[in-house]
Amino acid sequence: MITLSGLKLSELENLTEEMGASKFRAKQIHNWIYAKSVSNIDEMTNLSKDFRDDLKQKAVITDTRIKTKQVSSDGTIKYLIEYSDGECVETVLMRFDNRANLTACVSSQVGCAVNCSFCATGKRGFIRNLSYQEIIEQVLTIQRDTGLKVTNVVFMGQGEPLLNLDNVLKALEIFNDDFQIGARRITLSTSGIVPKIYELAEQELQSTLAISLHAPNHDLRAKLMPIENKYHIDDIKKALLNYVEKTGRRITVEYILIHNFNDTVESAKELAYLLKDLKCNVNLIPYNNVNDTKYQKSTNDDIMRFKYLLEHSGKKVTVRLERGADIDAACGQLAGKSN
Ligand code: SAH
Ligand code: SF4
Repeated sequence: MITLSGLKLSELENLTEEMGASKFRAKQIHNWIYAKSVSNIDEMTNLSKDFRDDLKQKAVITDTRIKTKQVSSDGTIKYLIEYSDGECVETVLMRFDNRANLTACVSSQVGCAVNCSFCATGKRGFIRNLSYQEIIEQVLTIQRDTGLKVTNVVFMGQGEPLLNLDNVLKALEIFNDDFQIGARRITLSTSGIVPKIYELAEQELQSTLAISLHAPNHDLRAKLMPIENKYHIDDIKKALLNYVEKTGRRITVEYILIHNFNDTVESAKELAYLLKDLKCNVNLIPYNNVNDTKYQKSTNDDIMRFKYLLEHSGKKVTVRLERGADIDAACGQLAGKSN
């Protein structure tokens, strides 16, 4: 059986040609899949019944299913999606700006090998990469289920996107070409895989690169992220400077605020100094409590003080709104375990 979702227009054209139909049929199918996001071939009502029956012999729209779905009081929806081999990932739909923007937070891997000490996904270890079809399928699942069109995509679900770069780049291409989601509306978040940041810079993408920095120096960062011992913060900074030079794009620096750990005046000043010559915005993320960790969220006063000190150094700083806290849909809580 052929899976239609994830096929590009040219691939659908090959299929309709094989079936003895015109290229125009491919265009119609493409529209049903990516724009109208139907769940059944029979919903493709501008195709003749005979053609649909023929198509159903050969193809299905998808072979994944929604295993569970949770809706938060703030409108955030968390899906647990099951792939054909039984592995699951979580995908979150967030609504910002009076709901005009619909942001899908997608996963790039099942589990994650990077094993950051504050992250629920990391605790699960690495299971496998997702194919590009499985990545884009997450956005299609949201669109099919809600009947809405996703406008923004962030790779901030499970997994390290730069350790599955080929599939992630192919998914970006499909988001651009087939979903019509502009590159500037897509964000890749990375824990700092230095050689891959150089590789990405060569692609000269217009997407936003977000770096999960979380600490202003090597020693503190190494306590949170074992990968710091492989890719040193100084080398990450060099890679980011090169990225900005090659793409002209501003980096997003993500910084989790953990009580009495990395939220002090000293840390804020050190971070401001580190970022002085880097074209970036800073996104402060109040730490989300994860079971089995010793960390606590910073107090509101400490968050505001940290923000003020960075702004004072000339950076644009945002504090990430908590979304879906009541359904564990916040950053770092996407373990993807099915119960
Ligand atoms: N692996 C990539 C992308 C997925 S994680 C990365 O690490 O960047 C997406 C974001 O959620 C990262 O910035 C990550 O550090 C953050 N995150 C993980 N656990 C968190 C937690 N418990 N509280 C707040 N943010 C967390
Ligand atoms: Fe992996 Fe990102 Fe979680 Fe670290 S924070 S373990 S890189 S998903």
